[in-house]
Amino acid sequence: MNDFAGPVFRPDDAAYDTERAGLNLAAEHRPALVVGAVGADDVVAAVRGAAATGRAVGVLATGHGPAVAAGDDGVLIATRRMDQVRVDPARRTAVVAAGARWRHVLAATTPYGLAPLNGSSPSVGAVGYTLGGGAGLLGRRYGYAADHVRRLEVVTAEGELRRVTADSDPELFWALRGGKDNFGVVAEMEMDLFPVGRLYGGGLYFPGEATADVLHAYAQWTRTVPEEMASSVLLLRYPDMDLPGQLAALRGHFVTHVRIAYSPDTPTRTADGERLIHPLRALGPRLLDTVRDMPYADVGTIHHEPVNASYVSYDRNLLLHHPDPAATDTLLTLAGPDAGAPFLAELRHFGGAYARPPETPNAVGGRDAAFSLFTGTGAATTDRAARDTLHRKLTPWATGGANLNFLGVEDATPAGVRTAYTDDAFTRLRRTKSTWDPNNTFRLNHNIPPA
Ligand SMILES: Cc1cc2nc3c(=O)[nH]c(=O)nc-3n(C[C@H](O)[C@H](O)[C@H](O)COP(=O)(O)OP(=O)(O)OC[C@H]3O[C@@H](n4cnc5c(N)ncnc54)[C@H](O)[C@@H]3O)c2cc1C
Repeated sequence: MNDFAGPVFRPDDAAYDTERAGLNLAAEHRPALVVGAVGADDVVAAVRGAAATGRAVGVLATGHGPAVAAGDDGVLIATRRMDQVRVDPARRTAVVAAGARWRHVLAATTPYGLAPLNGSSPSVGAVGYTLGGGAGLLGRRYGYAADHVRRLEVVTAEGELRRVTADSDPELFWALRGGKDNFGVVAEMEMDLFPVGRLYGGGLYFPGEATADVLHAYAQWTRTVPEEMASSVLLLRYPDMDLPGQLAALRGHFVTHVRIAYSPDTPTRTADGERLIHPLRALGPRLLDTVRDMPYADVGTIHHEPVNASYVSYDRNLLLHHPDPAATDTLLTLAGPDAGAPFLAELRHFGGAYARPPETPNAVGGRDAAFSLFTGTGAATTDRAARDTLHRKLTPWATGGANLNFLGVEDATPAGVRTAYTDDAFTRLRRTKSTWDPNNTFRLNHNIPPA
């Protein structure tokens, strides 16, 4: 396996530990070999070499979404060197290489007044995010990122580099968009861009004592807003210490952070946005209020998420119907300022275009959700148990589904993965997996077993 243009790393190599590490260390990769791919040929060589020796193949782009750690029977393809982005402003498309992060994509597209369907964090990998669905700040308006993929260059389990479109391989194209990394390694993705040059967005950071009012008002307010309004609420106690990138005004506070991203096609964006969020601002003083007219290039500041530090986070996710006052009280009791909750909880508004089937159907599930609840906590069993109590108590309002991108390592089980799809889609995904990866070479993931 020495046929690579990029570097390779074995456990005894000095740079092995750096190369196998990503953001979230909840699953730590320790593969037999890490291939630092610099192009599709390296991916082909890595998959062929692994398949020939019966090894599993995993992909590490940024480490934001680990599922199953690669062990010594695995080959890990590190794609971070493949971060190229090409924009075609006339066709309103971008071609994004395997390891490009959203910040690379934003830097390439926003000078043309064009926006990708990126998520909240500019550090997340564009391809992994999109294959898992991709719920972003323009999603209520345009749908999932996966709904707007035109073409994928995929290295299949046989080690063949294949150009996959709706016409060339309809079944594989359907499965890749939502089935994530179960069907191949995507070397390159072509996707649509949208003419959104500016946003009215930012954060309303309310203090803990306002949480009950804010949560109840927010649940009501989201029933009234147009599809151009994306929002979420994060409940989080900030540590009382200086952390890199932490806003000083939030230090040591329990914060109810309402995130706003309003994106209409209108020059009166600021005035409309101000009017729309007035009922939230009227709830009381904020520790910080960063909602403003901004270039789309600054979209990554809205959620104020961690940048580049490594951490351990056990993530879990539940899709919900619109929360009524009892659901909101449950969230308040178990994750509010008096709960002492050892986890963060984020409620994200879905609906709108997420709920509509895309022009070219795909495997993405959860389209019936009005909200997503995301939680993240540390490794301690007691912390995870406290988080699970919240999920359990919210089941009366749950759709029964989950969002694949927000599932963590504990849900990398057959039952956990199953929740991300409708019954029909899951059956069809398993059939497609039998065709394209019958030996389950791509199993270091939220796995869809071959039928
Ligand atoms: C701070 C933060 C913010 C987030 N915000 C959002 C959000 O707004 N919306 C949303 O939908 N999700 C969001 N996510 C979840 C994120 O989309 C998923 O975790 C996604 O899988 C991350 O992909 P990655 O490549 O960055 O991470 P990695 O951990 O490197 O990869 C995650 C998975 O993607 C697969 N993958 C990556 N690249 C490829 C490829 N080229 N071919 C095949 N498979 C590949 C890998 O095999 C792996 O299983 C967020 C996560 C974090 C930590």
